[in-house]
Amino acid sequence: MKKTQTVMIWLLPLIIIGGLFEPVLGYLVVAMMAFFLILSFFRGRYWCWNLCPRGAFLDAVISKVSRNKLSPKKFSESWFRWLVFFLFMAFLIFRIIKTGGSAIAIGAVFVSMCIITTVISVILGVITKHRSWCLICPMGMLQDKIGSFKKTPQANPKP
Ligand code: SF4
Repeated sequence: MKKTQTVMIWLLPLIIIGGLFEPVLGYLVVAMMAFFLILSFFRGRYWCWNLCPRGAFLDAVISKVSRNKLSPKKFSESWFRWLVFFLFMAFLIFRIIKTGGSAIAIGAVFVSMCIITTVISVILGVITKHRSWCLICPMGMLQDKIGSFKKTPQANPKP
């Protein structure tokens, strides 16, 4: 595991466990999103392979218990990635609207979205490859698209 990952990995339990008690920790997710979206313009998916707390967890823990089977072919197909992206964004926006603008409730939405996607990433990681989720992760997809505007080379190969 990279040094940067050993530092960042701790943010995952902080958000998904700490966030259950302090929903305001969900804003850490928002801050990270803002950071990696800007970073992706210059460095593509550098965040994914070096800094993402969930990516670090998948590398450090799930890789040890993964069956290491091929990821489903669909995960590499553009239409499927876009489908996951739009479903995820629609669900996120719907849930934020439902909060009625309460700052605490919005924080809780981001905590719960982080929990849901982490659970999915762990299940996929165990039954297929440890980084399978990263093929369809909406945030990885966004970084891919933003990074491609500048046509910078990938910082590291895809899983
Ligand atoms: S694809 Fe998503 S979960 Fe995977 S490293 Fe990137 S941001 Fe994190």
